[in-house]
Amino acid sequence: MVGVGLLVILGKQGAGKGTQCPRLAERYGVPHIATGDMLRSAVRSGSELGQKIRKLMDDGHLVPDEVISEVVAHRLILPDCARGAILDGYPRTETQAHTLDELAGQSGITRCIVLDVPTPIVVARLSARRVCASCGTVYSADPPPGPSTCTVCGGQVIQRADDTAEAISERLAAYERETKPLLDHYQMRGLLTHVDGQGTLDEVFARLVDVIDGAAQA
Ligand code: AMP
Repeated sequence: MVGVGLLVILGKQGAGKGTQCPRLAERYGVPHIATGDMLRSAVRSGSELGQKIRKLMDDGHLVPDEVISEVVAHRLILPDCARGAILDGYPRTETQAHTLDELAGQSGITRCIVLDVPTPIVVARLSARRVCASCGTVYSADPPPGPSTCTVCGGQVIQRADDTAEAISERLAAYERETKPLLDHYQMRGLLTHVDGQGTLDEVFARLVDVIDGAAQA
């Protein structure tokens, strides 16, 4: 795979992946594959898959590994992934990480970056998070009340069903339990870089670009 390769972006919910990944995708000319967005769109479409996973998602639980891995496998074989992709929200469990190793094949994963943000800050960010129901652009209701109309597409800006206090705590627990162990998986292979996820949008973006460009030269 020539280009930026497969980049995995990890970090707690609310660490800024959904804000930074589209910008990275634009900069490097590769698709942003956000499994949460793909699943939400399946729920909105009312497809069989969507009906099956709606409650799990609303309650902040992970969907089964085999379900999400099939979705990702179908996405990664599309031609726009030939030069790489930014993976946001996948893998989230050790089983998914092993599946991704298989899907990535010989070229493998270029780098895994974890966006570090302390838990109290992500809780505050998630509680204030608002998203466009049409295009997914992320907004904040801090200070309140936040925008009601999307400045990108004119869609309605809403609070996600899984950004309630209960679902947030379940999702962060799932991160600690299922996803954090993946840091070792990538660390042991020399693929992991921690990036400070606090600061302005541009500051965090610049740190990410430094890491990715540095990895490309290495
Ligand atoms: P996110 O937008 O990344 O916070 O994902 C929203 C929800 O989608 C999660 O709470 C899970 O229910 C589901 N989801 C997204 N990605 C995965 C994944 N890799 N494995 C299992 N469930 C996922």
